[in-house]
Amino acid sequence: MNEIEKVDCLIIGSGPAGFTAAIYAARADMKPVLYQGMQPGGQLTTTNEVENFPGYPDGISGPEMMVQLEAQAKRFETDVRYGFITKVDFTGPIHKCWTEEDKEIHATTVIISTGASAKYLGLESEQKYLQLGGGVSACAVCDGFFYKGQETVIVGAGDSACEEAHYLSKLCTKVTMLVRRDEFRASKIMTDRVKNTPNIEILFNTDTVEVLGDGNVVTGTHVKNSKTGEERTIPCTGFFVAIGHHPNTDIFKGFIDLDETGYIKYAQPGTSKTNVPGVFVSGDAADKTYRQAITAAGTGCMAALDAERYMAALGH
Ligand code: NDP
Repeated sequence: MNEIEKVDCLIIGSGPAGFTAAIYAARADMKPVLYQGMQPGGQLTTTNEVENFPGYPDGISGPEMMVQLEAQAKRFETDVRYGFITKVDFTGPIHKCWTEEDKEIHATTVIISTGASAKYLGLESEQKYLQLGGGVSACAVCDGFFYKGQETVIVGAGDSACEEAHYLSKLCTKVTMLVRRDEFRASKIMTDRVKNTPNIEILFNTDTVEVLGDGNVVTGTHVKNSKTGEERTIPCTGFFVAIGHHPNTDIFKGFIDLDETGYIKYAQPGTSKTNVPGVFVSGDAADKTYRQAITAAGTGCMAALDAERYMAALGH
């Protein structure tokens, strides 16, 4: 039988939320163990340049920032491990978690920082330019600035797509919005905002056929009208995808209260507490509104402080 490991503080996930929680928990002598998850470093590792995280006046690349956060967490002796948690059982006072290698861990406190993943269309050309950092993005607030004075395309028709299209319209000369049906999903106020913005063109019933590029960067988008069959090419240097996010919370289903879209619910607003005592959440796993590195880091700090208080109340 595998030996059970007992830890004071288990942190699941290695984005800005997880590493910030680790820095605080480690400095409070909670000896945190952090599992990095499927995508070590989290969503920022797919971002080129981070220019809006305070303290980096010249900006920093997403991957480099994550290396620095990890180094800072390790400086205070966070036990950072490769691997991921595949199963939990939060029914008793001890929080049980299992790794992909079936190692069983019993944690007094758990900080969930598993984040969310942006959905993409799944086109080969889209993935190619995403990997190259050549003009495909799922975050207008993160990357819009790089397309200042240029033309961009954005896919989606929800509140996020409207918000991001509007954000881009202030930077770009033209934004073309591709809506797959003949109507928006977004709220009326958001829809009206994009409809009333002169440099946003909305194409309904329009699907993306391919993201076009020169092998290095995006140069346009090939689209097709699903009603008329008409095909056309839209020149652009940035291709934004805003078709929703999927919170990485599947393993917590049945153990923690989730909302209808899978985001973890805060049990007490203004704290990081979930409905399970001793289990806390930080970052995008509970945030469908802000989704920024700095807000994730902030809630990571809150989760570590709440975990520390929970331990203190137990007499640790
Ligand atoms: P949503 O799920 O609300 O919308 C996703 C949109 O993407 C839909 O219009 C959908 O089209 C479209 N879509 C999905 N898949 C594809 C595809 N393969 N090709 C083309 N289009 C596709 O996600 P959001 O991220 O917009 O919003 C998530 C939640 O967050 C919502 O509850 C929203 O209200 C909320 N939110 C609120 C904000 C605010 O109030 N300021 C800001 C941002 C988000 P279709 O409609 O045809 O299904």
